[in-house]
Amino acid sequence: MTLSPVVIRELRALEGARLWVDAPLAPFTTIGTGGKADVLVTVVDTPAVVATLKILQEHAVPWVCLGAGTDLLVADEGYRGAVVKLDDAFHYAEGMPDGDGCAPDRVIVTVGAGTLLARFAAVAAEAGLAGLEFACGIPGSVGGAVATNAGAYRSSMAEVVEAVELAGAAGASWVRAADLEWDYRSCRLPAGTVVVAVRFGLAPGDTATILERHRAILRRRRSAQPRGVRTFGCAFKNPSGGGAGRLIEAAGLKGVRRGGAEISRVHANFLVNLGDATTADVLALMSLMREEVKRTAAVSLEPEVRLLGATFPWEPSGADPGESPAADG
Ligand SMILES: Cc1cc2nc3c(=O)[nH]c(=O)nc-3n(C[C@H](O)[C@H](O)[C@H](O)COP(=O)(O)OP(=O)(O)OC[C@H]3O[C@@H](n4cnc5c(N)ncnc54)[C@H](O)[C@@H]3O)c2cc1C
Repeated sequence: MTLSPVVIRELRALEGARLWVDAPLAPFTTIGTGGKADVLVTVVDTPAVVATLKILQEHAVPWVCLGAGTDLLVADEGYRGAVVKLDDAFHYAEGMPDGDGCAPDRVIVTVGAGTLLARFAAVAAEAGLAGLEFACGIPGSVGGAVATNAGAYRSSMAEVVEAVELAGAAGASWVRAADLEWDYRSCRLPAGTVVVAVRFGLAPGDTATILERHRAILRRRRSAQPRGVRTFGCAFKNPSGGGAGRLIEAAGLKGVRRGGAEISRVHANFLVNLGDATTADVLALMSLMREEVKRTAAVSLEPEVRLLGATFPWEPSGADPGESPAADG
């Protein structure tokens, strides 16, 4: 699908939205592969998100929200539709304690969905707010972390989010976290919505102790995960009762390459772009990992990474080429 000039004209006329027609998506993802989107719309505030989604809905244009691109694999053929991205104006934190007076039991902080989760975790630690230690090494945005229920070391977003502000074609409103469907590495947001802000409920704590927990988690990550490489983190979810990485390693796949992509020698559930990988290379390795784990351990691995603009090779063809149901318009 190529967007009609009418849609482009209407989007261009919007206040608070910037357009990039035929936008390459690889630079917006940490793995750095894949093709172009018909249009990338960068929005500066919530009314602009609503107005953009209204136009896309009226013209039945498929769309997806892009966060920090740390959990996304874009098809080499690109994405036929619009990619909506929150601008830097969505990087903020309101309600941080000012250090005066007695701390309440729970501090509510409102954070823009574009804010990097790990950065907010660091700011919260410095302010003596506990609960986000698990997030200190997770590189995504706060909005993406809600959509994927990001987590580590047995904690996840579901435990610290009080409410989420969702924008859709009809407007924006706050939804209680308890009213959303949280699951392992997913949160089912109402169809056609973008997370624009998140209210965290954090507990007062001792900064030095919280920072020590951060350091311990970062040390653990550094010893177990590849560093300074292009990757989207874990390719597959951990099946119940075990780690996907261990199963892939036991299948003898560490270091295996296809084209410019490699199964990390450090952590077998990480795929690395060695420099000139294509998404086809990455998908070929994901298929191999799945097949070999099925053959050697009788376990069916499910992808953790979201594939945009295509279906995974093992999925029935004709399935809706996909993105996260969480954010799909
Ligand atoms: C080195 C590395 C380590 C990682 N470690 C972890 C880890 O320990 N635990 C973990 O859970 N993940 C981990 N990840 C994956 C990733 O960081 C998380 O899933 C992160 O929360 C994704 O956020 P993002 O902003 O990058 O989302 P994106 O990758 O941009 O998008 C992911 C999904 O979220 C949707 N989305 C993004 N923003 C919004 C929004 N504002 N509103 C609605 N939907 C939205 C997208 O449409 C897409 O479906 C790791 C990734 C890397 C590269």
